[in-house]
Amino acid sequence: MSKGFHSRLRFNFGFLLEATLGESRDIELDYPDIRVAEDLQLTPLRGKLRVSRTSEGIYIEGELATAVLAECVRCLVEFSLPVTLQLDDLFYYPPSTAPQGEYVVGENGFIDLSPLVRELSLLELPMQPICKSDCQGLCQECGANLNEGDCGCSDDDLDPRLAILGKLF
Ligand SMILES: [Zn+2]
Ligand SMILES: [Zn+2]
Repeated sequence: MSKGFHSRLRFNFGFLLEATLGESRDIELDYPDIRVAEDLQLTPLRGKLRVSRTSEGIYIEGELATAVLAECVRCLVEFSLPVTLQLDDLFYYPPSTAPQGEYVVGENGFIDLSPLVRELSLLELPMQPICKSDCQGLCQECGANLNEGDCGCSDDDLDPRLAILGKLF
């Protein structure tokens, strides 16, 4: 994590590390908006998580509601897409027991949820985001956003490539 960024999703679960196996605690997140990485702001981030002590570390499960910014592949307008993040993750403790690439409980029992929340958010980004199912896209002739109204270009079924040829000759 780079220097300028301070995670607001760091929680001290030291008390759980000391607790009996199986002990759990519910935490509620309610951020109107929060920066989880230098390249990712989530608006909002809300939900309940259950945090449990297991023999391998601290297990976190629950659902968070948020929204990711996506660019519509049809009209190229950026829009906010509501998504649900499913957390179902073990943070290993002590950290040395973690398999390569797994999350760990940090020093003094701190867990930073930012990397996990960022990863889950990016996974929710669709490959072909569409702002609304009836998005009209851009006019192939003049490039106008057809959701904002008719651009006035001809409405006939002429192949737009042929239309361009028509203009050339
Ligand atoms: Zn669109
Ligand atoms: Zn047009």
